[in-house]
This record gives sequence, C-alpha cells and structure tokens, in this order.
Amino acid sequence: MDRVGEVPGRYLSDEQRLMRETCRRYVDDVVRPFIAADREREWSFDVATRLPAEILVEADRAGLRGLGVPEQYGGVGLDPAAQSQTFSIIATELARGDSGLADKLVQNWKISVLLHALAPQHLQDEWFARYMADPQFLMAHCLTEPRGASDRWLPYNVPEAAMETRAVRENGHWTINGRKQFISNGYDASLYVVYANTNPSVGLLEGTSSFLVPRDTPGLEVTRCNETVGGRYMNNGEIVFEDCRVPEDHLLAHGNALGKAGVYFRPGKIIVAAKNLGIGIAAFEDTAAWVQQRVQGGRILIKHQAVALRVAAMATKLEAVSALLRRAAIAVDEDSPDATRLCDMVKVFASQEILEVCQHAVELHGGYGAMLEAGIEKYFRDAAVYLHTDATVDVANFKITKTLFPATAGTYAGPE
Ligand SMILES: Cc1cc2nc3c(=O)[nH]c(=O)nc-3n(C[C@H](O)[C@H](O)[C@H](O)COP(=O)(O)OP(=O)(O)OC[C@H]3O[C@@H](n4cnc5c(N)ncnc54)[C@H](O)[C@@H]3O)c2cc1C
Repeated sequence: MDRVGEVPGRYLSDEQRLMRETCRRYVDDVVRPFIAADREREWSFDVATRLPAEILVEADRAGLRGLGVPEQYGGVGLDPAAQSQTFSIIATELARGDSGLADKLVQNWKISVLLHALAPQHLQDEWFARYMADPQFLMAHCLTEPRGASDRWLPYNVPEAAMETRAVRENGHWTINGRKQFISNGYDASLYVVYANTNPSVGLLEGTSSFLVPRDTPGLEVTRCNETVGGRYMNNGEIVFEDCRVPEDHLLAHGNALGKAGVYFRPGKIIVAAKNLGIGIAAFEDTAAWVQQRVQGGRILIKHQAVALRVAAMATKLEAVSALLRRAAIAVDEDSPDATRLCDMVKVFASQEILEVCQHAVELHGGYGAMLEAGIEKYFRDAAVYLHTDATVDVANFKITKTLFPATAGTYAGPE
C-alpha cells in the first residue's frame, strides 16, 4: 500500500519511481540516522561544519544534485512535461529526512533550470561543469532586501517597489551595489543569481535585471549566517555588494527579470509545498509508531478515541495537501492558465495544514513532544519556516484573489 500523503506509485513513470526509491534509500540509510544520532548538532554555531561534507557527497552519489542540470553536463535528464511533478516527489522524500538539507539541494535544482533558460552558453559550460564536479557546490537566489520582499512577490509594478540594489553598466562591466538578506544557501554558496534595479524611472517589473555573480567576485561579501528556528542544516545568509563588478555577459535578464524567472518561481512554490509535505509525512510516521506503543489508561494510545480522531485528522490533511500538490504540479508542467493560482494555493494550504499536522504530533507525544531528544518538536520548527518562504501566507492569498478578480483586487496602495 502507498504511504499516507505520497503520490501513489501507479501515477509515477518508471524514471520517477526509480528516483523516489533511490532518494528514499538515501534518506533512510544516511539522513535519518544522521539526524537521530545527534539532535543537538543542528544547534552548533559552527555553521561551516554543522552539516558534515559526507552528507552532500552521498546525495551526489545518489544522483540527487543533478536534478535540473541538463544531461550534457552530467545532470539527470528530466522529462520537461513532468519536471515539476518530479521535483515535487523528490523534494517530499528529501524533506522526510531533513527539510534544511532539502532546502540546500532544491535551490540548486531551481537555479540550474533558471541558468539553463537564461545564461549564455559559455557560462553554462563553465558553471554546470564546476557544479557537477564538486558535491559541496551550492547556489543561491538573491531577491529579498532589508526593505522587504512582499512588494516584489505581488508584484507591485511601481518605482517605489523597486529593488534598492542597483546595477550600473560602465566600461564593459556591470557594477552592483546593495544588500540582500534572508537568502537560502546565502552563507555558503559558490554562485549567486542577483536581482538589481537597472532603471529607477520605471516600474519594478521593467526596471529589474538579474545577474550571475560568482562568490569570489571582488566587492561581494557574505556578512552573516542567519540563525533560524527551523531548516537549520541550510545556511541562510546576508550578502553585501560594494562596487561589485561583473562582466557584461553575466547579465541574465535585462529588464523584466522577475517575469523571466517564472521557470524558477512556479516550480519553487511546488517544491516548498512538497518539502512541507515531507515534514508532515515524517511527523505522521513517528506519531503512528508512538501511539501504537505508548500506553495510558491501560491501553495503547490509538485505542483512545480522542487520539484516533487526531491521527485521522493528520492523515486526511496529508492526503489533501498531496492531492492539491499533484494538481498544481501538473498545471505547471502543462503550463495551464490556472497554474500560478494553484501554486499559491498549495503553498498556503501546505504551510498551514502541515503546521497543524506537526502540532498534533507534538501534542500526542506529551512531554516528549517538547524534548529535543525525541525529534518531534523539530518537525514543528521546520514547518514553521515555510510560512514565510516563497512569499508569506497573506501575500500568497492576496495573489490568489488577484488572479480571481484581476479588475478589482490588487491595486497598489501608494507610497506613505
Ligand atoms: C528560511 C527563509 C529562506 C528564505 N530564502 C530566500 C531566498 O533564497 N531568496 C530570497 O530572495 N528571499 C528568501 N527569503 C525571504 C522571503 O521570501 C521573505 O522573508 C518573505 O517573502 C517575506 O518578505 P519580508 O520578510 O520582507 O516581509 P514583509 O514583506 O516586510 O512582510 C511583513 C508582513 O507584512 C505583510 N504584507 C506585506 N505586504 C502586504 C500587502 N500588500 N498586503 C497584505 N499584507 C502584506 C506580510 O504578509 C507579512 O505579514 C527567505 C526567508 C526565509 C524565512
């Protein structure tokens, strides 16, 4: 029988089934034992060694780093007609092991797809080769700035919503100045995609361009690793650009960079919901084992009806998230007109429902639910992070309503 919350095997292609099995082996043999062996490790403030290099080496061996990388560079050739569905299935499986590790890897998948769509051929040749040669190589996507991200997610196409990071073309180079924060993999990436304003007199959409910035470019400085409540095996960072000069050919999109990044953003919402689902599945599995062995009132917990109701609610939520996720992933793969709306719907639904699944898990474990050693509170923390990634719940909900009622909803409120 299929596991609760997973896409039934009969819907998968042979390739997807094989990849899921390989990923599941990696998670069960490498990731879950690593997490269970030392639950204090994620709280180590030695961020460079928090996740041992071996975990990414094993991910590489299992072929999990090559998703999104074109086959000619040694990547995993994904059927474009099912790419988001495949991303979703594998991201769910990875996050069942650890959502921070999943965060680390999926950034590389999404940015690989973006680079393949936008980067000049010689830069693809160079960077895909370097990426595939080094299991520790990470990529980051830098949009958010200290003044906020929601205006860009909506997006509000007015100059007031523009990026504060600026890029100016001079003498065959682009010079970037600004600051990006809350960036996944930002602390330890080797390659950054950076969004900057290249025309302050027009709206956000026309005025935003994107650039490829290698980490060792003079003027790029990683200024901090953010310590987060969950997903702690992904190092979220802040990056400052001070007269950071990249050659002209490192321009990925001149104007309308956000529009051209649809290949990143839409699978991104599918993947964030999939990671959420993976956390929920893990919380459910641990809880199912617990309620069938813990005894209170002379009986195992699951025989108490109030407990059974909670277990049923957990399973139903997982199936509902999984069904909407599959519907949204198919919509993206088919490029159907409702794809963007479904992506926002599943991002919101997954982040709220899975947090409730994890709350049930914490409550059903009693005092152990709050103890680091049991690993249950980790699911709750890991799920909480996804309320805020790939747009907040409220902003994603607003986007849903905007697509439903484009003539009336979603007008920019104007500057203060
Ligand atoms: C773990 C983690 C990883 C991240 N990774 C990345 C990354 O890799 N790259 C990247 O660029 N960013 C990343 N982010 C940033 C993330 O996308 C933003 O934090 C998120 O979009 C919210 O933006 P903000 O923090 O600026 O909040 P704000 O935009 O300031 O929002 C604050 C509050 O105001 C509400 N709000 C804002 N505008 C409106 C509106 N018009 N109507 C109603 N309510 C509104 C929001 O819903 C929220 O409640 C990450 C964040 C986290 C937590």
